[in-house]
Amino acid sequence: MIFLKTNAELDIIRANGVILGQAHAEVAKIIKPGITTKELDKVAYEYIKDNNGYPSFLNYNVSGNKFPASLCISVNDIVVHGIPNNYQLKDGDIVSIDCGVYKNGFHADSAYTYAIGNVKEETLKLLRATKQSLALAIEQAVFGKRIGDIGFAVQNYCETLGFTIVRELVGHGVGKSLHEKPEVANYGKRGDGAKLKENMVIAIEPMVNQGKKSIHQENDGWTIRTQDRKPSAHFEHTVAVKKNKADILTTFKYIEEAISKSEYIVKI
Ligand code: MG
Ligand code: MG
Repeated sequence: MIFLKTNAELDIIRANGVILGQAHAEVAKIIKPGITTKELDKVAYEYIKDNNGYPSFLNYNVSGNKFPASLCISVNDIVVHGIPNNYQLKDGDIVSIDCGVYKNGFHADSAYTYAIGNVKEETLKLLRATKQSLALAIEQAVFGKRIGDIGFAVQNYCETLGFTIVRELVGHGVGKSLHEKPEVANYGKRGDGAKLKENMVIAIEPMVNQGKKSIHQENDGWTIRTQDRKPSAHFEHTVAVKKNKADILTTFKYIEEAISKSEYIVKI
C-alpha cells in the first residue's frame, strides 16, 4: 500500500529534513584526512538528539541484525550501508554519508558523497554524474509520471557517461516508516510501473558505480561493496510528488555551505 501524505505531514518531514541537512553539515565541517568514520557518526548522533530527533538508522533492524550507528558511511568501493568504525579518512577518498531523522512520527532520509583532497578526475566525474542524475530523477517526480520514468532518468544519464547502476538496492517511499512502498529503482523504462500521485513521498537515491554494476555484501550483513572494488557514489533526497514540480523535502543547502568553507572537501 502506498500512503499519500497530507500537506501538514509534508511539513513535518520538511522540518525533519532541515535537522537532517544540518546534521549532515555538522559532519561535513569536520571531514578531513585522519578523522575516523566513528567520530563523524558521533557528531551526527549528538546533533540529531540535541534537536529532539532520533537517528532513523540507529538500531534499524533487518532480521534481528541491528544497524549499530546513526550514519551509514561508505568509503570508496563501499556502495552503501558502511558501518562507522576506526577507519581514518585519507586524501583521495570519496565518502558517502547517508542519514535519516525521525521526529514527530515521520522520517526524512538523505545522502551525499564527498570528495576529499586529490580525488581522481574520473571519480569526480562519477560524483557529478550521480548528483546530476538525482536532479534529473527529481524532475520526473510529478503527478502523472510513473516510477519507471524516475529510474529511466537516472539510468539513461549515468550509462551514457559510461557508469553503471546498482540493481539490488533501490529508493523507497518514506513516511511513518523509513522504508515504505513503492520501491524506486534507479533503472527502468519510461512509462513503466506505479503511477505517481500527488503527496506520495519517496526517497530517490541513485547508487552509481565507476566500474561494473555487480556488488556483494560483507559478512557483517550490512556493508555493500562493488565486486570489482572500483568507486561507487550515492546521493539522495526525500521528495514529495506534486502536480508540476516535485517538492524536495530534504536539503543540501547546509552541506554545500559547509563544503564551500572546507579546506579538505573538493567542490564537485
Ligand atoms: Mg538514505
Ligand atoms: Mg533511503
